Amino acid sequence: MEPSPDPASMPLEKITMYDEFNIEVPEDEFPRKGISARAANALVWSDEWTDTNPMLNMSSFVTTFAEPEALETARRSMYKNYIDHDMYPQLFAMERRMVRWLHELWNGPKGVEPYGAATIGSSEACMLAGLAHKWNWRQAREKAGKDGSRPNMVTGSNVQIVWKKFLRYFDVEPRIVPLKPGNYRLTADQLDQYVDENTIAVVAIAGQTFTGEDDDIQQIHDWLDDYEKRTGVSIPMHIDGASGGFVNPFLYPDYKWDFRLPRVQSINASGHKFGLTPPGLGWVVFRERKIFNEDLIFYVNYLGGEMPTATLNFSRNAAPIAVQYYQFMRLGFRRLQAHHDAHAGECREAARRAGQERLLHDHERDAAHSRRGRHARSEDQELQRVRCLEQGARDQIALAVAKLLHVLGRQLQTDKALMLGARIVDDDGEVTVAIAMRIRFGASLVPGQFDLGFGFVVAQIDEREVVEIESMTRG
Ligand SMILES: *Cc1c(COP(=O)(O)O)cnc(C)c1O
Repeated sequence: MEPSPDPASMPLEKITMYDEFNIEVPEDEFPRKGISARAANALVWSDEWTDTNPMLNMSSFVTTFAEPEALETARRSMYKNYIDHDMYPQLFAMERRMVRWLHELWNGPKGVEPYGAATIGSSEACMLAGLAHKWNWRQAREKAGKDGSRPNMVTGSNVQIVWKKFLRYFDVEPRIVPLKPGNYRLTADQLDQYVDENTIAVVAIAGQTFTGEDDDIQQIHDWLDDYEKRTGVSIPMHIDGASGGFVNPFLYPDYKWDFRLPRVQSINASGHKFGLTPPGLGWVVFRERKIFNEDLIFYVNYLGGEMPTATLNFSRNAAPIAVQYYQFMRLGFRRLQAHHDAHAGECREAARRAGQERLLHDHERDAAHSRRGRHARSEDQELQRVRCLEQGARDQIALAVAKLLHVLGRQLQTDKALMLGARIVDDDGEVTVAIAMRIRFGASLVPGQFDLGFGFVVAQIDEREVVEIESMTRG
C-alpha cells in the first residue's frame, strides 16, 4: 500500500479531517505539526470516548450534571482568573457573599466578621484550616513561654487522605485514633490517650468517606470541654464537612454539628459534592475572622490594586464559583432541601422495589414499623444516628444492592463505589428512616464479592429509634 501523503505537504483545500486524523499520536515527544480544529477535536474525542460517562460514575463523589443556564454561567466565567479581584471585583463580591451565607447556614455566631474562602476543593480548604489552627496554637504557646515546636493533630482513622497529606506536608504529628470493627466513627472514647497540650485541633467528620456517617461531634465537643476543665487546655475543633456540610443543614436542621458548638472554629465543605457545582470548588469558613491568623494573609500588588490573598493556589478558574452562586440563588434553602429529599426518595423507592427490608439490619426498624410512629419531632432531637452493619448481614445486603443497582439501571465498574441516601417520610410528613450507603465492590457485583472497603449504613432519625439505639449502644 502506498503511504498516505503527509497532510502538511498537501494543498490546504485537499486536506480532509480524515487525512489529519489518520496520524500517529506521538507517545514520548512533543507533537511537531499542528492540525485543524476539527481534527484536534476528533482526536481528543477518540482518545477519551471509552472513559466512563461522568453521569454513570457515582464513585468520585462530585456533581456530574448542570442545567444549560448553569453551563452558560460557567462558560462566561471560564477565562476569568479568580485571583484577580481588581479586574473581577464582582466575582470577588460573590465569593464574599457566599462565605457569609455559609457562615449563616452553618449557624455561625451573629455580630462577628465571618471569614472564609473559595478553594479548589475540600483538600485545599482543609489545609488552610489546619494551618490556621497550627498558627494559633503556636502563637498561644509562645505567648505563654512554652515550647511551640511539636504540634500534633487528633483525628480518627476514618479521615480522608487530605488530613494525612496535611500532617506530612506541614509537619504536624499525626495522632490518629484507630477505629474498631463495628464502630467506624470517631467518638470521645479513646481521646484521653491522644489529646494533649500540643494538640492544635481535633478534626471530626460530617459525612465520612467510607460509610457516610458523622463522627460523634457533640460527644467529642463535650469531652474537650471537660478536658479544659481538668487541665486548662482549650482545644478547638475543625469539622470536615466535605459531604455533610451541604447535607446536614438541609436534611437535619436541628442536629448540632456546626458553629452552634462553641469549640467548632472552622468548617470545610466541597461545593463540587453536594454543593452541586462542577469539579473544582471547595469552601473553608471560620467562626470569625480572627481565627484565620493575619500571618497567613499576603498582600499582592501586581494585579492592580493591593489585595489580600490567603489561598494555597493563586490562579484558578472562576467558573465553579460563578456556578455555585447560580446554584445557591437558583435553588435556595427550600429547593436544596427538596432536592436532597427527592434524590433520597427516588433511592428509597428503588430500594423498596428491590426488597428494601433486606437493606436494614436486624437492629433497625423497617419503614412500615416506623410508619406507625406518631412522634412529633422535638426541636432539639438529635436526628442522625448511624449503625454499621455487622458481618453477618453483608451477603444479604450485597444481594439487595445488586438488585437495587439493577433497578436503578446503573453500572458499576471494578473498584467503584456508590453513595445513596434515602429518607422516608410518613404520609403525615414525619421523617422516619434514612439510609445512606457507600459500597465498594471488588471484581463484580456477585453477592459476597466486595473488598474490605465495603461499607453500609442505616441512619435512624426517628425519635424513638434514637432512644433505642442509644440505650443499645450503652448496653
Ligand atoms: C471528598 C472529601 C475530602 C476531599 O475533598 P475534595 O473536594 O475532593 O478535595 C475531604 N474530606 C472528606 C470527608 C471528603 O469526603
